[in-house]
Amino acid sequence: SVAIVLFTSDLRLHDHPPLHAALASADEVAPLFVLDDGVEAAGFGAPNRRAFLADCLRDLDSGLRERGGRLIIRQGDVADEVGRLVEETGAGAVHMAAGVSGYAQRREERLRETLGRVGCGLNVHDAVITTLAPGAVVPSGAGRDHFAVFTPYFRRWSEEGLRSPFQAPRTVRVPEGPASAALPTRTGLRGLSPGLAEGGETEGRRLSAAWRRHGLASYEERHDDMAGDATSRLSPHLHFGTLSPAELVHRARAAGGPGADAFVRQVCWRDFHHQVLAAHPAAARSDYRSRQDRWRTGRAAEDETAAWREGRTGYPVIDAAMRQLLHEGWMHNRARLLTASFLTKTLYVDWRAGARHFLELLVDGDIANNQLNWQWVAGTGTDSRPNRVLNPVTQAKRYDPDGAYVRRWVPELAGISGPAVHEPWRLPERERARYDYPEPVVQLSEGLARFKEARGLG
Ligand code: FAD
Repeated sequence: SVAIVLFTSDLRLHDHPPLHAALASADEVAPLFVLDDGVEAAGFGAPNRRAFLADCLRDLDSGLRERGGRLIIRQGDVADEVGRLVEETGAGAVHMAAGVSGYAQRREERLRETLGRVGCGLNVHDAVITTLAPGAVVPSGAGRDHFAVFTPYFRRWSEEGLRSPFQAPRTVRVPEGPASAALPTRTGLRGLSPGLAEGGETEGRRLSAAWRRHGLASYEERHDDMAGDATSRLSPHLHFGTLSPAELVHRARAAGGPGADAFVRQVCWRDFHHQVLAAHPAAARSDYRSRQDRWRTGRAAEDETAAWREGRTGYPVIDAAMRQLLHEGWMHNRARLLTASFLTKTLYVDWRAGARHFLELLVDGDIANNQLNWQWVAGTGTDSRPNRVLNPVTQAKRYDPDGAYVRRWVPELAGISGPAVHEPWRLPERERARYDYPEPVVQLSEGLARFKEARGLG
């Protein structure tokens, strides 16, 4: 018998429940990845993520080849391509991971229809892309299908038992015959960030092992140190599923200690946003909680947004962060918080404009995490203090106390030593004139007053 494993955001061989189930129930397994025209059509195929994806697919294919198999690549509509492979192989079952976005939910419905017609079973496995399935824990009370507040979610989530991670299979027998399209490559992709990380399960596992040895124990004290860059950088691997979140949590818990606890809590944020999106797929586009915002539009707002995107707002920490995003396709979490607060609360520009720019560049760009973190910062999401505004200067002095993060990304200010780099406008005029760096696009007090008025905060 033959079973198909349809890979989506779970591009790994370790701890992979659909692959495990397929191997246990069939003689031969056809591992399939479809380069999905729908993802491209939805505008989600940003170059940085396509490059990282190409690395992941190449690595998945070599992992399968080491085990006697190979990866079958097709391009087109997922349901059509799976249906075609079922015909070619006579497969009796398809195994895949459950997705959470509206897109993933529709894909699953279409697959169910297509496979129903040819009498092939569809087995959708939970807790592959997230640690726990969305809906695995729900608040008590009639009609409540998800947690809208993180802390009680985290408490319940932490009480749930985790299955032990599955080993990677030793051998995978793939049916002979089905053709495969060529593996995509990075070559020819335009607009890649020059400092883009490398993808693939091998790299993900190397990175996470190094992280457990050198970073995890001090994560609690150091995660907000922007210059120290002391977070795991595992987010793109979690986004593409080259690492299993359940395995990461499992191993972090085994290591124990305050660093591991803080790290697990952060991985839980990912599950939290996924369960909000699963219950409210529309939160990818519209306010989870409307604040009746009348976001600024028009020429001035557009110019200020362009300055924000390009890293020339005149606020060094904001500009450093936006340039890190352009250069690496990745940004430190504290920097994401500051830049998102600056766009939505200081410039008072619609969170969707910011979320779109992030999705064009972020290698970990993820509908659940990106849209819901943006909403969290904008105060339209799950933050219980929706009107807090992060002051970029105070925050910069706290989280980049020596100014090293700013000097790394804004080289034109590299001549200013210490925290003075956060406020070039305070330098004596003659010294200020030496630096080719813009004046602030807006005064913070002006932005704050505008925001308070807009939100009716008196
Ligand atoms: P670590 O600090 O090492 O954390 C470990 C893992 O926990 C991360 O890899 C990530 O999977 C998860 N995690 C940590 N913080 C969060 C969080 N706030 N929400 C959800 N998961 C979290 N993360 C994405 O993966 N994709 C996005 O598109 C994304 N967009 C964001 C947009 C904004 C405006 C903000 C404020 C945050 C966003 N985040 C996003 C969350 C967070 O900034 C990144 O996950 C984190 O910076 C990745 O770096 P790391 O892997 O070193 O994280």
